[in-house]
Amino acid sequence: MASLPTRESASASTQEPVIGIRELSTRFGAHVVHHDINLQVRRAEVLAIIGGSGSGKSTLLREMILLHPPSSGSIKVLGVDLKNLSRDDALDLRLRWGVMFQHGGLFGSLTVLENIGLPLREHTQLSDAEIDEIASEKLVLAGLKPEVGAQYPAELSGGMMKRASLARALALDPELLFLDEPTAGLDPQSAAGVDELVLYLRDQLGLTIVMISHDLDLLWQVTDRVAVLGDGTLQAVGSMVELSQLDNPWVTPFFEGARGRAAQAAEHLSTKPREPSSKPK
Ligand code: ADP
Ligand code: MG
Repeated sequence: MASLPTRESASASTQEPVIGIRELSTRFGAHVVHHDINLQVRRAEVLAIIGGSGSGKSTLLREMILLHPPSSGSIKVLGVDLKNLSRDDALDLRLRWGVMFQHGGLFGSLTVLENIGLPLREHTQLSDAEIDEIASEKLVLAGLKPEVGAQYPAELSGGMMKRASLARALALDPELLFLDEPTAGLDPQSAAGVDELVLYLRDQLGLTIVMISHDLDLLWQVTDRVAVLGDGTLQAVGSMVELSQLDNPWVTPFFEGARGRAAQAAEHLSTKPREPSSKPK
């Protein structure tokens, strides 16, 4: 793995990482998906995982959120070792992170507001009125108009669906947020809104964010560091600028081709976000 300088300060390096992955390996039968992965996620950073199709991005994410046990190695999240957790400890931990799944995962039979309030209904003793109030707050935080709360998921556009799913992930005020392909399938305007939202969550709420994305605009705009999976290992970890300077067969292709060059040029010409469609409050 390429070792790269980072912008980390001396004090930050003494803090315990939010996620610590050590010597992780994953096998499905004879198929080795991950071999000896070591990765740390720091507090209040946006870290993206990239890699080709089948490189093990989703599996690694699933391992971090207790949906799949690694074959060997260890994962610590928020100071807790994920191995051999009791049911209660696992539940306590799950309540401290939010997950936005790629396809939203909203319940079609519930309104948007009911979907957002669901984690509160399941895990708190709050009254219905209090739950609706908090759910409305998260709805607006995620950049949706209040009236969207009364709609059903089938009535939403792709961008609104992602925002509603994000609002639900934020319901319990998590410290850590996992986003699987937050801009996949969105038009450029909706995707631009997601850039701003991610930065707002990191900078104003201090959230630590781990995401999977191929969206070069998003990667250039919001990530502090990017981890590149390839050939079963972590090929490199660094900022986009650092990665763009590497000569690595698993990394370089991301920066080649028209899309990569355009996104890179845009980053170097301007630090403005791409065409914002709406501002998070
Ligand atoms: P990515 O998200 O990077 O496209 P995945 O993590 O989904 O990759 O998958 C990595 C590899 O692991 C793929 O070859 C996939 O077929 C395999 N894989 C993932 N989940 C399972 C599973 N539950 N059983 C068997 N193989 C799996
Ligand atoms: Mg995947």
